[in-house]
Amino acid sequence: MNIMVTKKSEKKFKGRYPLIQKEDLLEIPKTFTDEWIRFVDSQGKFLATGYLGKQNKGIGWLVNWEGTIDSLFLENLFLKAKDQRQVFDQEEATTAYRLFNGEGDGLGGLIIDRYDKFAVFSWYNETLYQKKATIIQAFRNSFPEIKGAYEKVRFTSDTLPESQKLFGLEAPEPLFVYENGVRYATYLNDGLMTGIFLDQKEVRGRLVEGVVAGKTVLNMFSYTGAFSVASAMGGSSTTTSVDLAKRSLPKTKEQFEVNHLAVDDQKIIVMDVFDYFKYASRKQLHYDVIILDPPSFARNKKKVFSVAKNYGDLVKDSVDILEQEGLLIASTNAANISLEKYKHMIVQALEEKQVRYQFKETYQLPNDFRTNKHFEEGNYLKVFFIEIIK
Ligand code: SAH
Repeated sequence: MNIMVTKKSEKKFKGRYPLIQKEDLLEIPKTFTDEWIRFVDSQGKFLATGYLGKQNKGIGWLVNWEGTIDSLFLENLFLKAKDQRQVFDQEEATTAYRLFNGEGDGLGGLIIDRYDKFAVFSWYNETLYQKKATIIQAFRNSFPEIKGAYEKVRFTSDTLPESQKLFGLEAPEPLFVYENGVRYATYLNDGLMTGIFLDQKEVRGRLVEGVVAGKTVLNMFSYTGAFSVASAMGGSSTTTSVDLAKRSLPKTKEQFEVNHLAVDDQKIIVMDVFDYFKYASRKQLHYDVIILDPPSFARNKKKVFSVAKNYGDLVKDSVDILEQEGLLIASTNAANISLEKYKHMIVQALEEKQVRYQFKETYQLPNDFRTNKHFEEGNYLKVFFIEIIK
């Protein structure tokens, strides 16, 4: 099937921009076929092979600018992805990492993470999902060492479960994985999340190395407490983990326990972070280090939070309960905010608080989260280590 792109959009696609939006196409088929599509320019000349598939962002991806897509093409994509992750493959201290990062590895809409001998597939649209038999076969040919896999359905579907087994052996629950020598308990078939966000490995690595040794650490939006555990492994004096979700308490406890860290030395609090800021101010609690890693967007009974609108407030609240000399670890995964804009938001908040500050370290996605140089928004992670003197 041929589909023509608009004159206006053909330039970016010739420049290898991969994501297709509605307005890029001259005509949008009423129902999306799950066949690979030949996209042509406004002269009718071949542009690239790709597919249409509705997802959270966009309606499809360009995939191969050189020709068609078949099993061999997919297998080569997987083999190339594997080759680029040899360092991880050989490293015993890290057994969980991203094997295939969508458009960064040449196929937008599919992400595959490795958890020891298991894989977790995330499907971002139904079209690729329909092609899963071919995709899995190509994957298994390329990664015979993967003994079993689970899948997450990350597109809207009335019939499919969020998570289920995809092939091979069943993973133990919990499945222990290692990262920089720290152990994490993961659950591969429990909703969309597994217990660890693999994109933060370099930041956790810094914590394990000891940047917060001897310090008191407040971990806001702590989820399963991965930053707290990494801090404690790196010698922090105490950690306080705050998350609204009730499950965060047992999950965080478990992460400490599996690393033989005494849970009694750590505080785990189920509370809205905005309430905790108030509580800590009232009690005159102060911390040497505050980690802020909120979801891009959250809605609860009381209010709507978005990084784009409210990150500055979090920074200001943090300054209030930092020690006189403190470290703020500011993190976001909001793809709609550039590094510059994010930094600007933080600087503005710090200026308002009239503190001295120095941006010390910056992290974006680690190497296993390969990004596509023609698709900047794919490099969504932004983390700053900022020294603050009040
Ligand atoms: N920093 C974590 C990941 C955070 S995921 C890590 O590195 O693993 C976002 C978390 O924010 C979720 O666990 C969610 O429950 C929590 N959350 C969302 N809104 C919140 C709020 N207002 N107060 C506290 N926690 C919140």
